[in-house]
Amino acid sequence: MLIVKKFGGSSVADRERIFNVAKRCVEDYQKGHQIVVVLSAMGKTTDHLIAKAHEIDPNPPKRELDMLLVTGEQVSVALMAMAFHVLGVPSVSLNGAQVAMRTTSAYGAAKLKRIQTERIRNELENRRIVIITGFQGMNKYEDMTTLGRGGSDTTAVALAAALHADSCEIYTDVEGVYTADPRIVPNAKKLPEVSYDEMLEFASVGAKVLHNRSVEMAKKYGVQLIVLSSLSRAEGTVVKEGTRMERMLVSGVAADKNTARISVIGVKNEPGIAFKIFNMLARNHINVDIIIQSVGREDRKDISFTVAKNDLQEAMMLLNENQAAITAQNITCEEGVAKVSIIGAGMLSNPGVAAKMFEALYSANINIKMIATSEIRITVLIDEEDANRAVRTVHDAFELAD
Ligand code: ASP
Ligand code: MG
Repeated sequence: MLIVKKFGGSSVADRERIFNVAKRCVEDYQKGHQIVVVLSAMGKTTDHLIAKAHEIDPNPPKRELDMLLVTGEQVSVALMAMAFHVLGVPSVSLNGAQVAMRTTSAYGAAKLKRIQTERIRNELENRRIVIITGFQGMNKYEDMTTLGRGGSDTTAVALAAALHADSCEIYTDVEGVYTADPRIVPNAKKLPEVSYDEMLEFASVGAKVLHNRSVEMAKKYGVQLIVLSSLSRAEGTVVKEGTRMERMLVSGVAADKNTARISVIGVKNEPGIAFKIFNMLARNHINVDIIIQSVGREDRKDISFTVAKNDLQEAMMLLNENQAAITAQNITCEEGVAKVSIIGAGMLSNPGVAAKMFEALYSANINIKMIATSEIRITVLIDEEDANRAVRTVHDAFELAD
């Protein structure tokens, strides 16, 4: 078998953890498998490198920032190769240029275009473990690029697809995907499997287990993923095409506290206003989530929507500057809100799921401010202080615990 194993920063944070990872890889190597290891930078290295850059230049050239950030992953792979050397197992470390992993030119947000596999194949044929830097590649100018924060997951999936790997294992510091955050719901249950679409919805509401782009890519190329912990032997969660006969009604509940609500009040009830508002935000790379437009009264209506908390200030500034153009009488915002979502592929064929969620919230006396749905997700906006209680209440209502 050819196995791609990706380890995040916390899994290689120090000497002891590096050896722990190395030993786990050697176990599979000694069974005769071909092993490709993808690593993130150690611990919080990427954060520290960014802070260092800002000490010199608060607004560093993007090319040079990438030049700096790619060093984090190179440290990890070189040290890992040394650990294998100590263990007496042949290995080789390669960076994004050596592989080569070709990307688009956008520094800091590059997308993988094509991966050359000859070098990797040759090394594997020679029974070496191949250790590859996550999160980076090389653009058409032969400059180093990075894929955006958390991008190592995407590197691993892309390699698994390019090499037609038999398995792609993503090791993190949690044991898999849970029905809810175990810190909020102590009896939350680990899911044996979730579909790609469910995983994408989990990620979109703030459950940060996998990089979103990695799941999109896994879905596109049919790469089955296993999410598991590098620190335990517990079985992880398999992420794959949803093929279960009996789909679970609801797979999990998640809360996203990184959200704020903006209300644009009393805009003219005429064509083009929503376009102007959301086009302006989109042009400034501000993502908008739940949107509600009121029924027009006389010649006016209100439009409310949510944005990530860190986009709030900029969004309010843009809206205020353009208040006349968007014909708003008033613009308000609220920060103390949270989104709580239920996710489940089984919702598609089961009416009454929304009612059950709303009943649970009602019985806990939690007020719903906004509602949004997708085919397999229902999200409510509520007061932030109610968020944890809401997650527990809804988790109970759908009997998701063991
Ligand atoms: N080291 C990079 C980051 O911290 C990439 C990754 O960890 O996936 O964002
Ligand atoms: Mg990560």
